[in-house]
Amino acid sequence: MDTIGSLENMMSVATNCHGYTPTESGLTSAVGSEHCKSCTNCKNLSNNVCQVNLYDEVLSSMSY
Ligand code: SF4
Repeated sequence: MDTIGSLENMMSVATNCHGYTPTESGLTSAVGSEHCKSCTNCKNLSNNVCQVNLYDEVLSSMSY
C-alpha cells in the first residue's frame, strides 16, 4: 500500500491523473475546479491511499 505524499504532490498527481474522479461534495460548488484538483477530493482516495493504484504510476510518469 502506498501512502499518499505531500499536498503539492497530490495536486500535481490529480492534475495528471486519468483516473481522477472528483467527489460530489467538493467540486460541484467550487469555481475554478482546475485549481482544486487533488487526490484529496478524488473518489478513489480512501484512507490516504489511492484505491486504484494510480498514484505511484502518475507520480513516476511526471518528471522531477
Ligand atoms: S487518488 Fe488515485 S485516482 Fe484519484 S487523482 Fe489521486 S492518483 Fe488519481
